[in-house]
Amino acid sequence: MKIDVLTLFPEMFEGVFGASILGKARDKGIVSLRTINFREYANNKHNTVDDYPYGGGGGMVLKPEPIFTAVEELTEGQSTRPRVILMCPQGEPFTQRKAEELAREEHLVFVCGHYEGYDERIREHLVTDELSIGDYVLTGGELPAMVIIDSVSRLLPGVLGNETSAVTDSFSTGLLEYPHYTRPAKFRDWEVPEVLLSGHHGRIEEWRRLQALERTYRRRPELLDDLELTERERKWLGALREADEAERESGTGEG
Ligand code: SAM
Repeated sequence: MKIDVLTLFPEMFEGVFGASILGKARDKGIVSLRTINFREYANNKHNTVDDYPYGGGGGMVLKPEPIFTAVEELTEGQSTRPRVILMCPQGEPFTQRKAEELAREEHLVFVCGHYEGYDERIREHLVTDELSIGDYVLTGGELPAMVIIDSVSRLLPGVLGNETSAVTDSFSTGLLEYPHYTRPAKFRDWEVPEVLLSGHHGRIEEWRRLQALERTYRRRPELLDDLELTERERKWLGALREADEAERESGTGEG
């Protein structure tokens, strides 16, 4: 996969692109990561990429020309149009599903904003997607782009070894992941659940599935709405809900 990032701060990506899983993916040739400083595409004497907003008000706005020219030059001669993804707190919330969708593309171009925002024509006529990494405002689009690039790259075939498969990760299965334990079997007074030491593959799988269900029910119950459950799992969740309800009621009674 080819990933190009349009940014005014390419140096921010150096450590992230060279280290850990992203560094390995790059070394293995699975992903090519490139940063482009779109200031180089400014067609004026002072290499200005921003200007005052029409209509007045505070903050500077990124001009359309450098970003349009940079993207057009990047994609010149390509038969397929890449996804051009604008980092934006007003965009579609980024999710694991979106990461899976983007991992199927051949070429992604990220546009990192700064200052007050972008000239609206960039949104309207250049980009294919607008993505937000959460309901808060950061200084620039570099950190959001790194977050998205990391989560997309780790899904590409051959990036994660067998020992760190993404298949059971939280959200991939629709659930939060089950709890993990490692040696020692007893740490201070806390013991690892007996089933994990049993060597019984079937029982371990079942325990993990139910733990993942319970964890999701307790922390992110809305994720369960879209999930297909077996009859047994539905009953098990029902019993959990009833137990909670009974506990709440007895708590209210006491108060
Ligand atoms: N004035 C803008 C607004 O209210 O929507 C916020 C601009 S922000 C200071 C500057 C840039 O940081 C944005 O253009 C975007 O590229 C990036 N950014 C900030 N928060 C983000 C978020 N939650 N998700 C994705 N990008 C974000």
